[in-house]
Amino acid sequence: MADAISVPPPHGAIVLFDGKNLEHWVQRGSGEPAAWPIEDGAMITKGGDIQTLELFQDFFLHLEFRVPDSPPEVKGQGRGNSGVYLQGRYEIQVLDSWGILEPGKGDCGALYNFAAPLVNACKRPEEWQSYDVVFRAPRFDAQGRMTEQARVTVLQNGLVIQNNVLLNGQTGGAINEDYAEPGPLLLQDHGNLVRFRNIWILPLPLSGADHY
Ligand code: MG
Repeated sequence: MADAISVPPPHGAIVLFDGKNLEHWVQRGSGEPAAWPIEDGAMITKGGDIQTLELFQDFFLHLEFRVPDSPPEVKGQGRGNSGVYLQGRYEIQVLDSWGILEPGKGDCGALYNFAAPLVNACKRPEEWQSYDVVFRAPRFDAQGRMTEQARVTVLQNGLVIQNNVLLNGQTGGAINEDYAEPGPLLLQDHGNLVRFRNIWILPLPLSGADHY
């Protein structure tokens, strides 16, 4: 099984969480400082959704997560549920989906309700895992019409699980439908104690680099 890959932030990246504090994060809705507990360098999903102060368009994101083990009688969406919302609008599901042969649109690594992961790259619960995400925001013309849909590629523990997937709308629980506007990174509190660590984001130029 693939291992979690701990990637150090490159030059230009914004370190959103280095294990010490939540200074980049606020509570969803109220905008009050985020108050999730921090333990052993990881934040724990407790106290409602949180989102970054910074807003993003195109970016590369790295983060690591760990889902708790759940009793066998707890099924499906109750097993270590959280989520990583790109621009606050598109959820990459976090869930204990270890061992599922054909993960679906609600399983870990799914773009929730849009696209199931291509393979099941999940590790066992209580093991650290990584997501590496390339996000391209939708594009609009001068009249405000969408000319290109959002695109997202996701690697889980180094394996490609979403390959340049087009998204023609937000997933459930999105903060808004202002697709032309930049948005925060949002982490979901779904009532389970999921951990996150080593979160950084590299904003990408909208038209690509042009150095020689
Ligand atoms: Mg979720």
